Amino acid sequence: MHAGSKPSYRAWFQSLHDASERHPLDEVVYTARDGGLLQVVHDLDELKKTPAAEWKALFEARGHKNSWPYGSGVWGKKEWVLPEIDNENVVSMYEGHTNLFWAERYGRELGLEDLWLKLCGNSHTGSFKDLGMTVLVSMVKEMIARGKPIRAVACASTGDTSAALSAYAAAAGIPAVIFLPRGKISLAQLIQPVANGAIVFTLDTDFDGCMEIVKQVASRDGLYLANSMNSLRIEGQKTVGIEIVQQFDWEIPDWIVIPGGNLGNVSALAKGLDMMVDLGLVSRRPRIVCAQAQAANPLYLSYRRDFEVFEPIAARPTLASAIQIGNPVSIEKAIDALRRYDGIVEQASEAEIAEACAHADRSGLFNCPHTGVALAATRKLLAAGKIRRGDRVVVISTAHGLKFVDFKVRYHSMTLEGIAAELPNPPIELPARYETVRDAMLREIDARFPR
Ligand SMILES: *Cc1c(COP(=O)(O)O)cnc(C)c1O
Repeated sequence: MHAGSKPSYRAWFQSLHDASERHPLDEVVYTARDGGLLQVVHDLDELKKTPAAEWKALFEARGHKNSWPYGSGVWGKKEWVLPEIDNENVVSMYEGHTNLFWAERYGRELGLEDLWLKLCGNSHTGSFKDLGMTVLVSMVKEMIARGKPIRAVACASTGDTSAALSAYAAAAGIPAVIFLPRGKISLAQLIQPVANGAIVFTLDTDFDGCMEIVKQVASRDGLYLANSMNSLRIEGQKTVGIEIVQQFDWEIPDWIVIPGGNLGNVSALAKGLDMMVDLGLVSRRPRIVCAQAQAANPLYLSYRRDFEVFEPIAARPTLASAIQIGNPVSIEKAIDALRRYDGIVEQASEAEIAEACAHADRSGLFNCPHTGVALAATRKLLAAGKIRRGDRVVVISTAHGLKFVDFKVRYHSMTLEGIAAELPNPPIELPARYETVRDAMLREIDARFPR
């Protein structure tokens, strides 16, 4: 790769506040001694010995190929993610490399010429959580191989983390324990860990309550914690920003809009982009928008006060159930990231979420409600003149719409409480008689596509 001695890329856990506190990545540790989060830090001097052009060429060459494990969008960047793990212990389902879709028609409706969607939901378990979980479960497999006494891996979830953990743990043959808030996740999300053979508990609480339980299980009973307070997940998730830039032939878009709940993902997005700047692959930064549901908006409230204070809230129910979080674990990392990226936080009401999904779906998309939060935020920032018509905007679509059909069914049958659907399209029920069908059909075509 580079002249001189063989590269020895290294990474370690480091306290956010005290650079002298370091831990090896195979240590079972989730927080720093001061109680704050840890971050994974890479030996940048070693990585800098490879010129930017060589990194680009390497990442391009590896993509989509079957040379284990580099064909994965995450492991194609292994040196930047988890350099010291044995390839034999990588647990991958070739995640990443999701398509970046030019949303031409929806963009035109909004008045944006250059709107793109990064479809992270087109992934093994249907959400971006696969990007982080491949890294965490691989590290667990490596730790077990090194003789660490890990009985099982556990997480609290709003539905997508548990689906990802269950699938990757099952692929590795490692037991997974899942804590879900009863009745607060979609049926598709619930059946994923059930089908993958995880030990699934549904508890009479919300996500924040499940989080309290899993933290106790991790500290008292020796289960390995798979929530995003474990910063190994961030290392995989950070590849999304790198991948977007790579897909634009290493050009930085003007904006990246991302929905946020526990705020690991927005932190990860910034971390990946930081590495590209630090290693000279790009020379400028995009602006980042973090979009929250109004019902679960503690970051938005803090943003409105210039991030000078942050107060956890009790998150209220929202269609965007995966981000119904009032006490986000990665708050500090997220605020840091938004400051570095000239960030904006916007919020969306339930009606704005539902209509954003419905309008975008009409242009051929099929959005989950979290993506709806980001689309609604984009529309509002455009109307406010912050995003301009000609800007290149990438909206990160975090999950596949098929995981969240319940709310679409209710939207189109006009039974979503408090929402007067603008674009309901219920199926038309008719007797099987040709003339009746023909009359109705011609009427509908004329009504929807007037000549
Ligand atoms: C987890 C998740 C989010 C939020 O990501 P955070 O890291 O918790 O901010 C958004 N959308 C979907 C579909 C998710 O599963």
